[in-house]
Amino acid sequence: MSLLELDAVDAYYGESHILRDLSMTVEDGEICALLGRNGAGKTTTLRSISGATPPQVRDGTVRFKDEDITGVPAEDVSARGISLVPEERRVFPNLTVAENLHLAEVVGNKSNTWGRSLTFEHKGATTEQVYEDFPRLRERKDQKAGTLSGGEQQMLAIARALKQNTDLMLLDEPYEGLAPKIIEDVEAAVHRLNEEGTTVLLVEQNAAAAIKIADRAYVVDQGSIVFDGTAEELREDEETRERYLGV
Ligand code: ATP
Repeated sequence: MSLLELDAVDAYYGESHILRDLSMTVEDGEICALLGRNGAGKTTTLRSISGATPPQVRDGTVRFKDEDITGVPAEDVSARGISLVPEERRVFPNLTVAENLHLAEVVGNKSNTWGRSLTFEHKGATTEQVYEDFPRLRERKDQKAGTLSGGEQQMLAIARALKQNTDLMLLDEPYEGLAPKIIEDVEAAVHRLNEEGTTVLLVEQNAAAAIKIADRAYVVDQGSIVFDGTAEELREDEETRERYLGV
């Protein structure tokens, strides 16, 4: 059984048909990359999983831990253990790093208990664990998040997701706009959290960087999967890379 399974998903924005018969799986414990050009449907796929609206999934199913979560609202998807770190790296700019992390815990607890149990037990990573994963955040814990560099904000956004109860982390273009050196720092952080047991679905336009840390990769084009294989197979498949990824 796969941790996540999309089966023949059709998703729409209004009447615009964006995802067409899209099927893919994410296996427990792996880093899976979803690659493709601008506008190919990567973000729409993540939104179809996370319950963010729009889009609307009209056909097909999304299953997580063998339960049907198609069309389930975002808070409930999050309570089941899926966290989305969106492209725009939502952090609270006027709060410090420590305050941002604390707030994630409070929000995480709320969604963990949403419609489930009434206990306020915190199931995500502790602040200490997060600081161990991201030493840079500990150094900057009293600094306002808005004054962090792009890479540090990305780490804070990922750290906030970790403070929630996360089995599957959806990362939308975490490398966007970051210098190569900083990309390496974010890569290392993603690697670490994966080694600690979080499964990762990584969406990227930077195919080379994503393939480096992924176990498997999918390529999406015009809303459908056009390649599915190991990262190694994609690295060797020049035709697919040139045709759909422009590299
Ligand atoms: P990018 O890297 O540019 O974010 P992407 O692969 O993530 O690319 P999506 O954001 O999933 O692409 O967009 C897929 C298609 O859906 C595009 O043609 C886009 O214009 C369209 N689209 C995205 N959001 C909306 C929306 N809210 N309403 C209507 N169409 C949308």
